[in-house]
Amino acid sequence: MNFIDLASQQKRIRNEIEKNINKVLDHGNYILGPEVKELESKLAEYVGVKHAIACASGTDALLMALMAYGVKPGDAIFTTPFTFIATAEVIELLGATPIFVDIDPKTFNIDPTKLALAIKALKNNDPSIYPLPKVLPSPPVGEGKGEGEILRPRCIIPVDLFGLLADYDAIEPIAKEHGLFIIEDAAQSFGAKYKHKMSCSFGDIACTSFFPAKPLGCYGDGGMCFTDDTQLAQIMNSIKVHGKGSDKYDNIRIGINGRLDTLQAAILLAKFNIFPEEVELRQTVAQRYTNLIPPDLLPITHNPRPGIRSAWAQYSLLAKDESHRTVLLKKLQENKIPTAIYYPKPLHMQTAFSHLGYKKSDFPVSEDCASRIFSIPMHPYLTEDQQTKIAEIMGNGL
Ligand SMILES: *Cc1c(COP(=O)(O)O)cnc(C)c1O
Repeated sequence: MNFIDLASQQKRIRNEIEKNINKVLDHGNYILGPEVKELESKLAEYVGVKHAIACASGTDALLMALMAYGVKPGDAIFTTPFTFIATAEVIELLGATPIFVDIDPKTFNIDPTKLALAIKALKNNDPSIYPLPKVLPSPPVGEGKGEGEILRPRCIIPVDLFGLLADYDAIEPIAKEHGLFIIEDAAQSFGAKYKHKMSCSFGDIACTSFFPAKPLGCYGDGGMCFTDDTQLAQIMNSIKVHGKGSDKYDNIRIGINGRLDTLQAAILLAKFNIFPEEVELRQTVAQRYTNLIPPDLLPITHNPRPGIRSAWAQYSLLAKDESHRTVLLKKLQENKIPTAIYYPKPLHMQTAFSHLGYKKSDFPVSEDCASRIFSIPMHPYLTEDQQTKIAEIMGNGL
């Protein structure tokens, strides 16, 4: 059994993939060939936004989005500690400061109530309201009481974890009230939907990833930014090619080498043909799991608010505690069922972020989830028999 079964998918569309690759080999435009533009316009239409900017990875997509806003040292970016490192890594790369906000146990996504508290804490420079990083510059000497320069709140990066959209209905008014922009980290949620709005249409810029294991994956690294803002789209298109201007030899800003390979775009075009169907198959597979799995392992996430469709990038469960998880994972392994833990260590507990001075118990929900969560195989081609077997093994492990 596979955790993510890319082979079954490839079998369905192998001819189409080879045809598309051969077309690229024939025309030879390996950098920004016609397939890249075609993919951008198809995915922009699917998502329902004006502009799509293909790039080299989900990480570059996040980086380009922050760079487009000129994020710099002194800027505070609010995000969750219960995510893949890339979400906060890009903040640090630009010298800005991540301000972590705990997750809602019902969704594993950033908790809007705590987000409002964290903004208040930062604006008042008062960590008794909500835990803050210990890097706030102290007020300059002789300038009165606490009137010094503190970090500037700039942006919120909600993450649509495991394919489930964050609570944008609650996050958007908070962003508006405080003049913050929103970047949707949709690396795991491409294909998800809330009412009539697709994943990657939330926030000011949305970023997704085409890493092979993501809902829409290529055969290497790839990513994409989405926005309705024409000016931001222009800036990101410049950033991704070394800050190019209209004159090839006069670069107008500092950028990166962030292009998506034409070959990857060609592969994605073949995969996208069956993607909407795969998203539907994921709903069937997830629903079957939800019916089969012992109810005490099911997080509330699996019954999300009405109108929401997850992309089911992962199917994650919560054991009673860490030792219960160890027992369940061992049983699954003994039966050759692959498993994974996303994420065993929240970002505030990782060495790379230790300079922020956060401590254990700052984000109790993330820490509790990290100690109990685990993921079981999830992909569009899981059969009912396979799922029954997985559920039975876990039923016996309770
Ligand atoms: C995968 C992932 C990324 C980074 O995407 P890459 O394409 O691997 O660079 C960013 N954020 C989250 C939440 C992810 O899961």
